[in-house]
Formats: sequence, structure tokens, C-alpha cells
Amino acid sequence: MNMTSLRKFIEKINTETGFTGDIRYAEPLALHTTFQVGGPADLWIRPEAACFLDYGAFLLCHAKAEGIPVFVLGGGANLVVSDQGIRGIVLDTSGWSGVDIAGEEVIIRSGTRIDAALDTLAAYQRGGLEFLAGMPGSMGGALWMNARCYEKSLSDRVVAVDCLDREFHQLVVPYRSEDYGYKKSPFQNQDFLILSAKIKTSQRPEAAIQQEMEQYRLDRKRKGHYRFPSAGSVFKNNRDWGKPTGQILDELGLRGLRIGGAAVAPWHGNIIINTGNACAQDIHDLVRDISQRVTITLGISLEPEILFVGDWPDQETAYALHRKNDAI
Ligand SMILES: Cc1cc2nc3c(=O)[nH]c(=O)nc-3n(C[C@H](O)[C@H](O)[C@H](O)COP(=O)(O)OP(=O)(O)OC[C@H]3O[C@@H](n4cnc5c(N)ncnc54)[C@H](O)[C@@H]3O)c2cc1C
Repeated sequence: MNMTSLRKFIEKINTETGFTGDIRYAEPLALHTTFQVGGPADLWIRPEAACFLDYGAFLLCHAKAEGIPVFVLGGGANLVVSDQGIRGIVLDTSGWSGVDIAGEEVIIRSGTRIDAALDTLAAYQRGGLEFLAGMPGSMGGALWMNARCYEKSLSDRVVAVDCLDREFHQLVVPYRSEDYGYKKSPFQNQDFLILSAKIKTSQRPEAAIQQEMEQYRLDRKRKGHYRFPSAGSVFKNNRDWGKPTGQILDELGLRGLRIGGAAVAPWHGNIIINTGNACAQDIHDLVRDISQRVTITLGISLEPEILFVGDWPDQETAYALHRKNDAI
């Protein structure tokens, strides 16, 4: 679909639904990813909370009928968006935020920033998610990725997840242990829009929660998580290798390895940083280079944890690294 048709399409949808929020054409996605790379989205749209549910369903349904892809964007903390950007619509969920607290089970909307959700929970003396403190991104992205740190996964706390299914009906996906695993969630192979999560918490004094969260935030700071733009760990761990992937990369002397403006962090083998002028292709090529070195030297295949999304010029290479561009 060309830009004129896309413009007409969205103007019609917005008028029919009483859309409120932000909308921009050719929006640079570098502004919406923690790596600070990524070309333009044909159309970037961020509905406000008041219209998000009805609008989301209507938009997705009509976009599907017209063959317009929709990419769902959380905090952009696990993405490498190509320099060519993303065709079609990018639906930014950050307007759909908030936490409902009623007893032990709390409801967190998918667009809520993780740290904002945790601070609200602390204020209501609800503990249980402290281990996620300081992790960039939204609740929706964390559910999709089944975010994990300090030996705990978000799924340890999930009771149920509210989604829009492929037919754009609201659907509750109850927690089932077999659906989740290490960096695995039931949403990864589904075209679902995650709306909210019901999370189990426990009563705890606010000061104790804040103190524990502060420790995690400080630990991340000490580990250099916020020194340069990045998307956290690049490759997944694998128990069969007997050591963390970061250690394997350190032992191969890959810290500091550089392509263009992308470099392996000098202090951590499993973090790639944007040193200031990286483009997505630099990151892509560095990931491929590291993967090839590890395969040649050790005979093992690293699996990227970061997601390569959008339009990649070298499709063959991009497919090798691409973990499903979950355009709806
Ligand atoms: C400094 C730093 C440290 C990090 N540390 C960790 C860590 O310790 N552990 C860890 O697991 N990760 C870590 N990460 C990675 C990242 O923070 C997590 O993966 C986070 O959960 C991603 O959330 P997001 O909202 O940014 O998702 P995005 O990157 O925006 O999206 C990720 C995927 O989720 C999908 N998605 C997002 N929202 C929705 C929705 N509402 N409905 C359907 N699909 C959706 C997207 O389409 C995409 O496929 C780190 C990143 C950084 C930058």
C-alpha cells in the first residue's frame, strides 16, 4: 500500500473510532528503541488509554482486511529495527498504561513501563516483581519475551494474560507452566495483542521493596547497563554449554570487537553497544560475525535474544537471525 492510501486508510479508521493519541508518518524508530537505531515506520501511532481497547481491535481488524502489517511496539528494549524501518503501521502501546490493585492479584496494562509498574506496586506494598527493577521496557514486551533476570522469570508470577486474539476478540490466556520456559512465552508464535497481565504479589512493607529494588538497579548500573545504548544481552544462554554465553565470548577475547559504530562492550562479552553512530546494519553484521567466530571455534550455534525486525536488504542473512517479525 502506498503512503497516500495508508493516509486515507488511517484517517477513515480514526474518524470512525474517535481516535485520540499521537500519530506520525515516517517516524524514525531510532527514537523508540533503546539501541537508538532504526529507520522510519510508514505510520507510527500511539493511542491514548481512553480509546486503546476499542481502537486497537478496530485498527487490527481493518488493517488485516486491507493487508497492512501492524507491528506492536513496547519499550523497544529488545529490538534491532532495520535502517530501512518498518513498512505499514507501528502500534505503540505506551499510552495503554496503568496498574489496578485489588488484593494479591494485580492487573498491569501491557504498555506500562516495568519500573513505573514496580514503583506503583511498592507504594501499595505489593512485592514479588522486585527482581525486574531497572529493566527497560514495557510489561507487554516483558511478557512476550518472558523476561528473566537474577534467576527468576516473569512467568513465575503470571496468573493470566488478557489478549486480543487473531479474530480480535478479547481472550484470557491462563498461566500453564508448559507454555513458558527460558525466554519463551505462548505469545511468540501468535499474532496476539497483549492487553494486560494478572500478576500474583504478596504483602510487603514499601521500604523493604524499595530497598531491594535499589540493590537491583545499582547492580545493573555497576554492570554498565546504562552506559551506552544497547538492548541488554544479545545472545541467549544455554545450560548445555556449562557457562554463561557472556563468559564464552569473554574467553574468546571478543570484548571490544567492533563493526562501524557497534561494538561488543569492553566490560561484557554478551552486550553490544551503540558507541554513538551505529546503524542497525552494524549491529546485525557484528552479531553475525560473533556467531560465525563461535561456530568456527567451538562448533556451537548462538541464538540471538534480541529481535531483528523490519525490512532488511539482505534477506538471506536477515532470515538467519530473524526471530519472527510478529507483524499482525
Ligand atoms: C540495559 C538493558 C538491560 C536489559 N536487561 C534484561 C534482563 O535482565 N532480562 C531480560 O529478559 N531482558 C533484558 N533486557 C531486554 C528488554 O528489557 C526486555 O526484553 C523487555 O522485556 C522488552 O520489553 P519491551 O517492551 O521493550 O519490548 P519490545 O522490545 O518493544 O518488543 C519485544 C517483542 O515483544 C512484542 N510486544 C511488545 N509489546 C507487546 C504487546 N503489548 N502485545 C504483543 N506483543 C508485544 C514486540 O512486538 C516484540 O516482538 C534489557 C535491555 C536493556 C536495554
